[in-house]
Amino acid sequence: EALLARIEQTEPSVKAFLTVTAELAIAQARAADATRGAATHSPLHGIPLAIKDVIATEGVRTTCSSRILENFAPPYNATVMERLNAAGAVMLGKLNCDEFAMGSSTESSAYQTTGNPWDLARVPGGSSGGSAAAVAAGQALGTLGTDTGGSIRQPAALCGISGLKPTYGRVSRYGLIAYGSSLDQIGPMAWTVADVALMLQVLAGHDPRDGTSANLPVPDYSAALTGDLRGLRVGVPSEYFVEGMEPGVEQATRTAIEVLRDLGAEIVPVSLPYTKYALPTYYIIAPAEASANLARFDGVRYGPREPGESMWDQIELTRGHRFGAEVRRRIMLGTYALSAGYYDAYYKRAQQVRTLIKRDFEQAFTQVDIIAAPTSPSVAFPIGQKTDDPLAMYLSDVCTLPINLAGVPGLVVPCGFSENLPVGLQLIGRPFDEATLLRAGDAYQ
Ligand code: GLN
Repeated sequence: EALLARIEQTEPSVKAFLTVTAELAIAQARAADATRGAATHSPLHGIPLAIKDVIATEGVRTTCSSRILENFAPPYNATVMERLNAAGAVMLGKLNCDEFAMGSSTESSAYQTTGNPWDLARVPGGSSGGSAAAVAAGQALGTLGTDTGGSIRQPAALCGISGLKPTYGRVSRYGLIAYGSSLDQIGPMAWTVADVALMLQVLAGHDPRDGTSANLPVPDYSAALTGDLRGLRVGVPSEYFVEGMEPGVEQATRTAIEVLRDLGAEIVPVSLPYTKYALPTYYIIAPAEASANLARFDGVRYGPREPGESMWDQIELTRGHRFGAEVRRRIMLGTYALSAGYYDAYYKRAQQVRTLIKRDFEQAFTQVDIIAAPTSPSVAFPIGQKTDDPLAMYLSDVCTLPINLAGVPGLVVPCGFSENLPVGLQLIGRPFDEATLLRAGDAYQ
């Protein structure tokens, strides 16, 4: 009830929620109260959370912030929702994001622009901007975001909270409405790394309904938070301190790395030479996969349908009117990159470069246990500043995209301020070694 009141009080300015499920939340909270004290409790029992609106919630509107899924209510729950429900968590509602998770500012939502709680005239980052803003504004104790190229980590950094993109395959994607299937991961966002660990515990694990889900044991993440960093080798890649990075961001990041050293870690320079190819590689692969994934939204199988003379008119009008400009741009880029005659030059090439980027990380992880880097070259930028310049928007993800291409995990921890706005330290780990990332992030915090 306190959080619902907080939502009511702050939503007029923050605008993080697309749907508030107040009645459901109260019912779930009552049910959790009724079973309080049982020995088998999950730490999430009775904990109020909110969910990015690209994750299917049975009977609850799931829009992907798009007009093409206006009023669409899925007939089933995503696996992560089943797991949260089984743990006794409470759902407060569904959170705003960029349309189909395409963007870095939450401004491509068809419904509303979310404000950054630290400065409402600035963006919360994206695409999981609603998920980051809701935590930062005290509207939910934790949220789920999704990360295809940085969408958990960049908004976590810009809103001064913690967020984790797990290893590809660690968390089931079943019921996550797909953007780039080979890159997408669901992950937890919360104030502290300790809370992120509690949430990951519930989310992680094999799911036979997701063919890319890994069948590996899930360690006890909270037990890994020992506070001890002695002997940990932390790599610092020069390539991530990109040209044009705001000096205040670089300074806060380097100071945070010094703190890791003071805590007993060994700081080692490493090189990830293919970093500069990550952005063009990502912007071939992600739109290519998106163009295929979004082909299903034709007004026949899902959501609303625009009237037209023939079936083809209907499909054309529905897709033409109900997908926003950024989504249409990605579908066109992706269709082009996959078309006969261009496939070898673009898509195949991008896949080859992706392998080289992955090898950069494999090589670095023979020398170090984790990598520490900036998350975003800038702090939260003013609403509207980059909306007319897609390339400037794409550049916000230079430090986060390579991690998705390599499939490795990435954790963001708040590490101070630049010009009174939050900065986030990004920690990158070996595949399926979220435990070490969480230990480092928690010790820092
Ligand atoms: N900003 C990147 C994009 O627009 C990443 C988005 C994401 O991670 N979902 O594709």
